[in-house]
Amino acid sequence: TLERKKYVKGPKIGSGQYADVFSATLAADPTHLVAIKKIKLGPEAAEFGISYDSLREIKFLQELHHPNIIQLHAVFSTNGQNLNLVLEHLPQGDLLKLIQDTQNVTYTPADIKSWMLMLARAVHFIHLNGILHRDIKPNNLLIAASGAIKLADFGLARAMADPFQAMTFNTVTIWYRPPELFFQAQFYGGAVDVWSMGCVFAELVAREVFLRAWPDSEMNMVKLICDKVGTPTEENWPGVSKLRGYVTPGEVVAVRGREEWMAGFRAVGESGVDLLMGMLTLDPRRRVTAEGVLGHAYWGAEPRASRLEDLPRRG
Ligand code: ADP
Repeated sequence: TLERKKYVKGPKIGSGQYADVFSATLAADPTHLVAIKKIKLGPEAAEFGISYDSLREIKFLQELHHPNIIQLHAVFSTNGQNLNLVLEHLPQGDLLKLIQDTQNVTYTPADIKSWMLMLARAVHFIHLNGILHRDIKPNNLLIAASGAIKLADFGLARAMADPFQAMTFNTVTIWYRPPELFFQAQFYGGAVDVWSMGCVFAELVAREVFLRAWPDSEMNMVKLICDKVGTPTEENWPGVSKLRGYVTPGEVVAVRGREEWMAGFRAVGESGVDLLMGMLTLDPRRRVTAEGVLGHAYWGAEPRASRLEDLPRRG
């Protein structure tokens, strides 16, 4: 299509499980860098083409503009099979790299608040627009030159690459996935993203993955959720026992109380811990909503969120 000719492709700058990423510039303005993400389509998509629904949803993402969401400039297909996403160029890495670089990077509770506020704004915005991300995790939070974090890699692109790929065959992490998805709830909503946000919050504080099941089987994840959050029961989650995939491994563990959460996450204060507990509530209907997250007392409590220019960068 003509869309393709608007960009001049440069060198490959990265490669992931599902895509190769190239640097490119606008044909009309060689100083304007973009990133072109070329999705490796799975066998189904390669055979039957890209579904109209997928394209429509991705086109919809193109209409979204928010300072904390990666800008999708354009989408084009090279031979009816490849899918190319033209994205904002964000070469500064992602939040995971900062969390893991304990040697060179230190950050404060004010920095955590700043990052979490940007994430919360992004999630609220997509939910308002009827979109779920479904794959929020630190390596999908890219860092802009300004220090702002940008939610990237909407699960959708992934779904398109490999719609029917077997669990054993993929390396998509399930550490940020909420209990209702393990229990195969038929109807789920924005609460899935809020749970993932809670996992990111806990990880920022502890500098380790909060629910790091290993091997990362679904059963081990459910066990870990029971151990570290509490066992889902009819008392704390009415209707849970009727879900198709409901299992409770071992003894019922009581839902973790405030004191236990405080012991691990005191660094973000009482209001931070209260918000964390709201995000990691087992019952998705009782879990705080994205709107509730933004309205929480944590943001107004001391310390104030760091300014963008004061946030730590990669060493
Ligand atoms: P993964 O999520 O497995 O890292 P991606 O396919 O999202 O894989 O990206 C692969 C690599 O390409 C990233 O690690 C990063 O180095 C680079 N990259 C991805 N998106 C961008 C972007 N918008 N701007 C600059 N570099 C990017």
